[in-house]
Amino acid sequence: MAAFEFPCRCGETLSVSEALVKPGGKVRCPRCKAVVDIPPEVIGEVQQERAERVAAEERKRAKAEQKARHRAQEQKRKEEERFRGQQEDEQTKRKERMVQVEYAKDELRVEKEAAPMERALARQKSYVGAAVLTFVLYCVFYLPGLIFNIIYLADAKKTARVAGQSPAGVGCLWALLVLGLLPLLVLLVVLGLISIGGEAAVGG
Ligand SMILES: [Zn+2]
Repeated sequence: MAAFEFPCRCGETLSVSEALVKPGGKVRCPRCKAVVDIPPEVIGEVQQERAERVAAEERKRAKAEQKARHRAQEQKRKEEERFRGQQEDEQTKRKERMVQVEYAKDELRVEKEAAPMERALARQKSYVGAAVLTFVLYCVFYLPGLIFNIIYLADAKKTARVAGQSPAGVGCLWALLVLGLLPLLVLLVVLGLISIGGEAAVGG
């Protein structure tokens, strides 16, 4: 701690530590034993130094406070930014989900609307004309009749699934198939018998 010096009337140099310097402060001279007032200029000097120190500390404290405040503001801003970012993300996700839900709903509605129409159309479908055409084909060209018969039956099966009921003319197509396959069956049996007969003839 700094010491302050000033002369006594007897010529001795008096020394006083800063802590003891205050208005009305006194020091005893070690030589002449007189009690000497600390001169006002010494008191003024010390007071000024103290004031400067206090001011410097005040400035330092204010600076630190400002720094802390800035840091807090920056952090708050960053947090707000992050929060806003999260909210935007969530909003985007929510929108995407909503679009997907809407899309799914649309698809379902289209399906629901299409299904009754499809079913109504399938229920109106008749295979009587197809059966007549198949019969004519059987009579004129046998094989195309058989092919058309099978194709029409496959188509009728699909229609029946959509309609939920057997369409008209399917019975006719089945009857034609049985009748159409009958000659083929007879032919196969005859051919088989001939072959057996032939083998028997060769064997005998
Ligand atoms: Zn003295």
